[in-house]
Amino acid sequence: MWIVPLLLLVPNIGLTITEHLYNGWEKAANLLLPLGVYCFLASCWKRVGITTLLSLPLMILCAFQIVLLFLYGESIIAIDMFLNVATTNYNEATELLSNLTPAILTVCTIYLPPLVAGIVVSIRHEFVDASRRRVLRMVAAATYAAGMIAAVGAYRSNPDYSISRKLFPVNVVANIHSAIVRAEQSSHYPATSENFRFGSRSTRPDSIAEVYVMVIGETSRAGNWQLNGHSRSTNPKLCKRLGVVNFSRTLSESNTTHKSVPLMMSHLNSKEFGDSIYRSKGIIDAFNEAGFTTAWISNQKHNGSFIDFFGQQADSVVYLSDDNMSHFDGDTTDELKRFLASNPHRKVFVAIHTYGSHFNYRERYPDGFDHFHPDNASEARAANRQELMNAYDNSILYTDAVLDSIIGVLADTGRPAALVYTSDHGEDIFDDCRGRFLHASPHPTYYQIHVPMIAWTSESFAEMEPEAVFMLDRHSASDVSSSLSVFHTLVGLAGIATPRYNAKADLSSNLYTAPERIYLNDYNEAVALGQSGLRNIDISILDSAGISKGIM
Ligand SMILES: [Zn+2]
Repeated sequence: MWIVPLLLLVPNIGLTITEHLYNGWEKAANLLLPLGVYCFLASCWKRVGITTLLSLPLMILCAFQIVLLFLYGESIIAIDMFLNVATTNYNEATELLSNLTPAILTVCTIYLPPLVAGIVVSIRHEFVDASRRRVLRMVAAATYAAGMIAAVGAYRSNPDYSISRKLFPVNVVANIHSAIVRAEQSSHYPATSENFRFGSRSTRPDSIAEVYVMVIGETSRAGNWQLNGHSRSTNPKLCKRLGVVNFSRTLSESNTTHKSVPLMMSHLNSKEFGDSIYRSKGIIDAFNEAGFTTAWISNQKHNGSFIDFFGQQADSVVYLSDDNMSHFDGDTTDELKRFLASNPHRKVFVAIHTYGSHFNYRERYPDGFDHFHPDNASEARAANRQELMNAYDNSILYTDAVLDSIIGVLADTGRPAALVYTSDHGEDIFDDCRGRFLHASPHPTYYQIHVPMIAWTSESFAEMEPEAVFMLDRHSASDVSSSLSVFHTLVGLAGIATPRYNAKADLSSNLYTAPERIYLNDYNEAVALGQSGLRNIDISILDSAGISKGIM
């Protein structure tokens, strides 16, 4: 009767320690109100075993929350996490779980004994007498009253305070509800977007067989690219490739695949995303309307998210994984070659979704790219950081080769061609004292948002549009938002006119303007990046990379 309320409070105690955005009143409310309610519920029935067993759903939420605190060191279970579970393939989820063994053992140690005790006590028909329950009820009333005072203090001290955001487990239940609502809205996407039109057209003659390629990277960190100053030779090919422009000050406005990729593929900015994505189409459709023949080549699995919806708007849709084999990203190059060969005289647009550097890193590159070793440790432990980093750098080395080979295919056609590459987000790899790993946490870190971005143009494109190539080069040292600029830069390079085009976001335009630094948070709100949960340690790294302008 006494132990279960205290065990249910473990995540609240953890959050009190980890949440730097909670003030003292908010922390007190997050401890006292739930404790008061748990104590009251525990005192309601004399059959204490049944009460314990009825608390199982709460224990599951608590266990999930504790595992996430182990993983990220902060934050409640986000809406995006529930959606990620639904949109991440099975293998990935199990890969991750096997690396969370210590966290899972901890929650089992906390919550299995009371459940077993609950079963035993229930079978024995044991119960707690009324006088002991009365004492607990008095403790519950006092704790709840103190919690209400703290909640009033929280509302008064912070006008933005809300229980549905800062009180566990109410906030997690609210997030589950929001995830269900968003999944429901997504399921109606074909109907809600049916009437959307870009109104786009090509401004160049049909006789010009142009080629534009968008390559979407996965979990690539700008800091691990030699082009951005990494001390290791991870971009030996791109460093030598003529026509490549590197944008070293690029930040993504989301750290989660299922939001970052649609942001890149859509004309919407982060402020419009939450409301308008369900009624919009993607970049492939902008090119379709302008008379291009389009292709979507993916080395990721179908996941039922906007990435699929936008990809499937192409004339040719290829998911390499449909053959149930695992593929390296280099296999997308063969598909690209085939598609270009079958459309030799048409304008074409191809979007390639790679698997890049997604964990488990060692599985993302073939033998022969294990340049940095040892690279075999796959267990997510800080002690393995060097090996994980070796494998990670090998995956970047492979990305370098894949991009160079795609560029080679485009150059060999002799057609006017341009390519834009960026990654959806980066990743933490036990980089600092926080000991964080992976991405998609409710609050981003520097490592999750600083992404590589390059553009490449062919010689014949440069002859056709010298001004655009000059402008790309001129903006290489500018602040860039990948989420905002990929769509508009590709549309601009392709000479497509559409009312949805924004020249200020087009890196090949003389009107390009450095973006406002914003971040699309878990509630689909575009907040100032400085308010996204970045810590001082992140800001100082951004500062040393020269990217802190406009963040605070
Ligand atoms: Zn991703």
